[in-house]
Amino acid sequence: MRLRFDDSVEATRQEFREWLAANRPSVEEMAADPAVSTGHAPDWARRWTRAMFDAGWLVPGWPPELGGRGAGPIETFVVLEELAAAHVPRTTNVQGLGIVAPSIVDYGTPEQVRDHALPILRGELTACLGMSEPDAGSDLASLSTRAVLEGDEDTGEWVIDGQKVWTSGANYADFCFLFCRTEPDEPKHRGISILLVPMDAPGITVRPLPEIVHPDEPDLNEVFLDGVRVPAASLVGRRGDGWAMANGSLAHERGMVWVSAVMGLEEALGSLVAGAPAHLAAMGPHERALAVDQIVQIAIDTQAARCLGQRGFAKLARGGSAPEQALMKLYASDCRQRVARIAADVQGADSLELGSVPNDGHQAVDEPRGTWMEQWFHSFANTISAGTSEIQRNIVAERVLGLPRG
Ligand SMILES: Cc1cc2nc3c(=O)[nH]c(=O)nc-3n(C[C@H](O)[C@H](O)[C@H](O)COP(=O)(O)OP(=O)(O)OC[C@H]3O[C@@H](n4cnc5c(N)ncnc54)[C@H](O)[C@@H]3O)c2cc1C
Repeated sequence: MRLRFDDSVEATRQEFREWLAANRPSVEEMAADPAVSTGHAPDWARRWTRAMFDAGWLVPGWPPELGGRGAGPIETFVVLEELAAAHVPRTTNVQGLGIVAPSIVDYGTPEQVRDHALPILRGELTACLGMSEPDAGSDLASLSTRAVLEGDEDTGEWVIDGQKVWTSGANYADFCFLFCRTEPDEPKHRGISILLVPMDAPGITVRPLPEIVHPDEPDLNEVFLDGVRVPAASLVGRRGDGWAMANGSLAHERGMVWVSAVMGLEEALGSLVAGAPAHLAAMGPHERALAVDQIVQIAIDTQAARCLGQRGFAKLARGGSAPEQALMKLYASDCRQRVARIAADVQGADSLELGSVPNDGHQAVDEPRGTWMEQWFHSFANTISAGTSEIQRNIVAERVLGLPRG
């Protein structure tokens, strides 16, 4: 079977490819001033986001005033595919572009769209996502960061106290899309609201958490909020609707995130296969047979990941629902972890180097970077963030297979 898009989609691909070649940030430019956190947008990244916005390629499915061109999902798909193939990040501020801006567009006031969403889309501001807390990760509804309204809903102020953790990019972001408990007497799913909080507000302390690979460029942070005051108008959507909005926020782009995940997986597999013959030749027959078996299995699984993604996407593009999407994050992130493990096993001791590859521009794409052991460490970002693999399995069991709750 040969899968191909129709001519009009391929024409869009060609148009974007030409525009990309003429306007993309160069490899040298990105490497000279690398993004060191997902809240950090170096000058080239700001210019690049703005160029994508102005040309209507940033969010192709949106109207021109929001950085789009009213394109369909298939055109958006080919744009993402071309970006991944060219190793150009769509943005360095993944949370801002992927979750915060779309959520403000969906639920915010016109002023919030003007002052927060549009500046993200034009590359002028970056945002972080303040959901997880020390005692509220998978069970987000248990969050305890508290916001109390002093004064009335027009002229008053929210006073915020609490702590967030694992907040990607908080060390550079301009503002936080902060989930807080505002209705302490309501059931826990109904007492959460979202506030827009400037990261330089008095009372905010950000403490970066060094990671094993590149500890000098931390992206994850603890954020402490101690009597932080923001205007009443910082509330996004309705009071107490934060839980419902969170589900909407995280659903943004869910239909598309697999594209770069699968392309990163395919690239990692390609480099495993390219390097394997030399290492296999040095192995004894039993060890070699085992290694070949593992490589073949992950090659099959990589194909399956692409087929699963395309199958689910085809259903979504036709307006249907696609349980494949629920399996995709789990499967692609698991495969990515296994490809790094298998490659490290095949390569042997050389794979254990750390800090071998300098930051070449951006952290915000799924492309393989560093030694196999570094890639293996990095792979946990995807099996934990945005819902751990165990939580994905629960979702697949209950919502896709209809099994009873365990
Ligand atoms: C790279 C990265 C970036 C992140 N960025 C952000 C961000 O920008 N903003 C933000 O708010 N958060 C962010 N997070 C946090 C992320 O959302 C949480 O780590 C994740 O939701 C898991 O929560 P937790 O760490 O508290 O683990 P816990 O929820 O405490 O889970 C611990 C373990 O128990 C398992 N477990 C928990 N509940 C169940 C269950 N019901 N059934 C079976 N197993 C269960 C989990 O799978 C896990 O193995 C990020 C995390 C990572 C790794």
